[in-house]
Amino acid sequence: MEKKECVEKCPYVKKCGACHIGEKSYADELAEKKKWVVENIGKYCDRVNQVAGMYYPYHYRNKVHAVFGKRREEVIAGTYAKGTHNIIPVNDCLIEDTQASAIIQTVTELIKAFRLWIYNEDTGRGLMRHILVRKGASTKQIMVVLVTAQPEFPHKNQFVEKLKAHHPEITTIVQNINGKQTTMVLGDRNKTLYGPGYIEDVLLGLRFRISPGSFYQVNSEQTQVLYKKVVQAAGLTGTETVIDTYCGIGTIGMCMHAKAGRVIGIELNEQAVKDARANARRNNLDHICFIAADATEYMTRMSQNGGHADVIVMDPPRSGSTELFVKAAASLRPRSVIYVSCNPETLGRDLGWFAKEGYIACEAWPIDMFSFTEHIETCVLLSRQK
Ligand code: SAH
Repeated sequence: MEKKECVEKCPYVKKCGACHIGEKSYADELAEKKKWVVENIGKYCDRVNQVAGMYYPYHYRNKVHAVFGKRREEVIAGTYAKGTHNIIPVNDCLIEDTQASAIIQTVTELIKAFRLWIYNEDTGRGLMRHILVRKGASTKQIMVVLVTAQPEFPHKNQFVEKLKAHHPEITTIVQNINGKQTTMVLGDRNKTLYGPGYIEDVLLGLRFRISPGSFYQVNSEQTQVLYKKVVQAAGLTGTETVIDTYCGIGTIGMCMHAKAGRVIGIELNEQAVKDARANARRNNLDHICFIAADATEYMTRMSQNGGHADVIVMDPPRSGSTELFVKAAASLRPRSVIYVSCNPETLGRDLGWFAKEGYIACEAWPIDMFSFTEHIETCVLLSRQK
């Protein structure tokens, strides 16, 4: 019954491939995700908790992306079909924010009305490439990023006015210029067309500014479950030096700030570091600083300088961390490492490196941030062996 209902609800599921909604119940999915985590990290951690599932596993994605294309001369916006570059027009995705989906539809109509060129991947010609909509789940602020191949945007002002008139809920519109023939959505240049050029959101009582290129977790509700877990696992007493590595716009470190002696955030993306510094000022946090650096290089330097940390938080991308990072982190002799991972496979590999350095994974908490997809987030507490 449940399965049939879900399949009928999503007409794209077979072609799209972005999620597997309708193939199994959410409860079965959570059980499978737990199994997958245990398969990958069970060798190093014998306390893997049940997956913390979502209360309402639909429309949770606060970041929605669509690529523009043409089908029989019609402008379409959608997602690439699994494993191909064929675009499937999707306009009411069950896991994406509904307001964002509506804005993407309007922008598609405006592109038609203004007769703007759609970018052609094969020839590299044309203007409109992608649209990205981000929403602050708590503030309801909405950012629209229009990705174009060139800086010139015909009828730009009228386009922006029409879009605002249709969607007064939009709080900022940014043009991002990406002239490269690449699979990356965003280019390096942003031009703010309306509003401040970023949105804000509130997590655990703290306010965060999010720029177009900065990483921000896509599921705000479950992010708070995750961050609470990290803070709890750290067991801070108010005196500790905490290093928050791969820190993005500084969210985890700032959630730990109230209970820490001082916090250092390390992040490679300079736009994210700017956001992080602005966020610290915005929240009046004074014993936190952010450094734009490669996490492995920073930790290695700190280790060579005889540095020390009490708690290290790490939240690397899907590819995981590096063996050099793990060695350097261990040499700072933290009492605990809290590893936040979005990929159980690289997590398992990295826990193996930590085990060699005398750090044991005591407990793991998988948290589902991405229902109906193959992804699962896991928070692991590691302690130094006596
Ligand atoms: N902890 C943050 C961000 C996690 S995403 C949050 O919860 O929102 C991973 C972050 O690692 C991204 O911001 C990415 O820009 C950053 N990153 C990727 N490679 C890195 C590296 N080699 N050194 C430092 N940061 C890196």
